[in-house]
Amino acid sequence: MEHDKLHEECGLIGIWTDQHHAIGEKLYDGLISLQHRGQESAGIAVNQYGQIVQYKNVGLVNEVFDEDRINSLAGSLGVGHVRYSTTGRPDRRNAQPLVTTFKGGQMALAHNGNLVNAKQLRDELIDDGYTFETALDTEVITRLIAKLYQGDMAETIQQVCSVVQGAYALVLMVGEVLYGIRDPYGLRPLVLGKTPEGEWVLASETATLDLLGADLIRDLAKGEIVEIKQGEMRSWMFDDTKPQAFCSFEFVYFARPDSIVEGKTVLSVRKQLGAILASYDDDTYDLVAPVPDSGIAAAIGYSHAAKIPYTTVLMKNKYIGRTFLNPTQEQRDRALRLKLNVQREEVFGKRIVLVDDSIVRGTTMKKLIHQLKAAGAKEVHVRISSPPVIHACHFGIDTPTNKSLIGAQMTHAEICRHIGADSLKFLEIRDMLRATGMEKALCKACFDGKYPMAVPKTADKFVFEKEI
Ligand code: SF4
Repeated sequence: MEHDKLHEECGLIGIWTDQHHAIGEKLYDGLISLQHRGQESAGIAVNQYGQIVQYKNVGLVNEVFDEDRINSLAGSLGVGHVRYSTTGRPDRRNAQPLVTTFKGGQMALAHNGNLVNAKQLRDELIDDGYTFETALDTEVITRLIAKLYQGDMAETIQQVCSVVQGAYALVLMVGEVLYGIRDPYGLRPLVLGKTPEGEWVLASETATLDLLGADLIRDLAKGEIVEIKQGEMRSWMFDDTKPQAFCSFEFVYFARPDSIVEGKTVLSVRKQLGAILASYDDDTYDLVAPVPDSGIAAAIGYSHAAKIPYTTVLMKNKYIGRTFLNPTQEQRDRALRLKLNVQREEVFGKRIVLVDDSIVRGTTMKKLIHQLKAAGAKEVHVRISSPPVIHACHFGIDTPTNKSLIGAQMTHAEICRHIGADSLKFLEIRDMLRATGMEKALCKACFDGKYPMAVPKTADKFVFEKEI
């Protein structure tokens, strides 16, 4: 239920081929496969005989692009982007890729993540006479490239990466060359693949490679730059001194279940999270049900481990669009009623385990429990396949302020009472880490406040956004 979740900011794709063809179609397909990572704007930029041509707008990928538009985006290489906006109303200006002309030619940049020193860098660039057209920290990167470029693009990227701090996965097209870059902590995902025809693909998730018929070569390493030029790939590390801190929420919620993240299938990790939750319970229940779609994999894992039947009790209307954009509580309530309905005969008189992947504000869960009980459920026991979110994310995830985070405001017992559940259990942090097999390589700051790098005060984060 989107409006009660954290939101990922972006999905990225870049494709390099050795011939001019309908690359727009492939980029479009790739963006469709990444739509879950951002639903507020979409954009594609292609190299068309040496000129970058682009189109971007607010909306879902299939709202932004029609067939004519896709066909007009022919070229030999290109980049694409889907975005979830964290800066107020969606605005075409803030859609990506960002296309800029600089003394090295033209570039198109797509960014996933958030820079923690963007405000300081932006102020310095303004002092140097640079102007800004968007509210994006991504524009700080393009301006820095323009400022630092001395003729060697690889060298320039390295210099920029030594200045910017924070989370960034980047796909950058400069002339006929495609770059993929991951920050020194590897906070955001980026994978490299290649088709049997020799096309190179960079994407946020492996599901995109599957769709495009590309074989996964590997995840880019933290602090790595990959360059694809004239069909050859070379890569180098620009910083291998930092510990990996991959976003644990990719496993819990953001990534597609059919993607492979850092060598693990997301679906199998989520089932394991559910199985561990089941090990916390001695009691037996009549059925295990997911909050669709976010709780499905963990509910299956719980059901298998506990040997309790898995049952769909909340029916989802797939044809309802994005509910989180609805501004008032009344509209959101209506959207929830449109989106989910209770399967009455399945719940009547039953003791239900209701599984979801997270509770952020608690508003949706409260309403769902109310609906289940109104339909005759005897008991509803809520199990959450992640720890409570109690701290803001500074790395590109749209976390509410601490005031709206129910985990930061209430004890477990209070949350349980507030949402009207008969019991409530969250996954322990150590168990979440264990299930991913990346115990020491994950960012878990929104659960324990231990950020992998110095972050600005939350207030500063919003000052930057308000100034624009
Ligand atoms: S703070 Fe949380 S949401 Fe943000 S990068 Fe770290 S684990 Fe992911």
